[in-house]
Amino acid sequence: MTTATRVAQAELVRRALGLFPGGVNSPVRAFRSVGRPPLVLARGDGARVQDADGRWYIDYIGAWGPAILGHADADVIAAIRDAALDGLALGATSPREIELGGLIRERMPSVERLRFTSSGTEAVMSALRLARAATGRDLVLKFAGGYHGHSDSLLVKAGSGLATLALPGSAGVPAAIAGSTIVVEYNDLDAVDEAFHRHPGRVAAVIVEPVAANVGVIPPAPGFLAGLRELTTEAGTLLVFDEVITGFRIARGGAQARYGVTPDLTTLGKIIGGGMPVGAYGGRAELMSLVAPDGPVYQAGTLSGHPLTMAAGAATLARLSDARYDALEMTGAALERGLAEAAHDAHRDVAITRVGSLLTVFFRSPSPVNAVQAMTADRDAFARFFGAMLDQGLLLPPSQFEAWFVSLAHDDELIAQTIEAARAAFRA
Ligand code: PMP
Repeated sequence: MTTATRVAQAELVRRALGLFPGGVNSPVRAFRSVGRPPLVLARGDGARVQDADGRWYIDYIGAWGPAILGHADADVIAAIRDAALDGLALGATSPREIELGGLIRERMPSVERLRFTSSGTEAVMSALRLARAATGRDLVLKFAGGYHGHSDSLLVKAGSGLATLALPGSAGVPAAIAGSTIVVEYNDLDAVDEAFHRHPGRVAAVIVEPVAANVGVIPPAPGFLAGLRELTTEAGTLLVFDEVITGFRIARGGAQARYGVTPDLTTLGKIIGGGMPVGAYGGRAELMSLVAPDGPVYQAGTLSGHPLTMAAGAATLARLSDARYDALEMTGAALERGLAEAAHDAHRDVAITRVGSLLTVFFRSPSPVNAVQAMTADRDAFARFFGAMLDQGLLLPPSQFEAWFVSLAHDDELIAQTIEAARAAFRA
């Protein structure tokens, strides 16, 4: 930051706590589950972020996903500057929307047509409205531990038995709305089948994070995504891949390319906005033709397709070649290997799950395959590990259940420093 008088971190936290619930504008930033005060981050550069006291950290939060090139990437900043000089939102379609839309479709061919929104939450909410309209059905099936934004029908927790209707997972969510969602365990095809039999002809959509990344990283079991494709096709249910995290993170064409399974609809966010607020949903042209003004499904946004967002997203995607995904894979693998060795040497019983540049160190073993198992991880052990890493200048996502995001700016030296710090932290 270039302000001459720097306000100390502690004072900023005090003021933030007075202004915002928990001192933050999104709950996980409050660091509650690791027992630390919220950090105020003043700037980012490459794989590092700096707090308001001037202390630098090696960052694995990665803006919760968008920062795949690292922070303040020169190309992205230049693209945003250029776009800003043309004016901000002009309230009509801009050339930059067409450019980014084209880049997405070229990389993700199942997205024949799409619509930009301003957040992932909106993208998912809109995709499910579309799925309900297209099928004339009301119910949606999701997986326990899957996060799809904070819209009412998705802020739910599992009911008492498998494949039963869900209960509100937040105060303020009407039971009737929660009851339009079915929750089953991830990686459990039998439970999906059972739900379809229990609610025949009533399930509009199955929504899934193709790699579960909001309970810590849980990869799909072999055949799980293909099985979902088969079951949904048989049941006349639409398959929605929520690729807000995985899209353009784990392969040039997202999870659907990496696992070779094509959904009916896809939701996107994070990377496609290059660090600016964004979401998008898209899929087969005939489904998307139901969206207003072509069709009867209403959805809109004053700032949707914002030129600065479109410019940042296009500059980001343009840099993400196959070779760069290979590089991310290698960096992720080196980090996983080093962390596993460090844990082993410290006699720590952890399981490390990873898909490309998404990784979680679970303080349990073996690796969980669903949310029930993930929830048995030792959160206190994670909190101690988190604190010991932070004190050495390593910023991990402040929850056992969030993915570490590795970027192209994490070079060999930073990975080595991370592993060295982890050696000490596992012993702590
Ligand atoms: N879907 C997934 C898979 C997510 O991880 C998130 C946010 N982390 C969302 C949807 C919601 O996106 P947003 O926070 O932009 O509303």
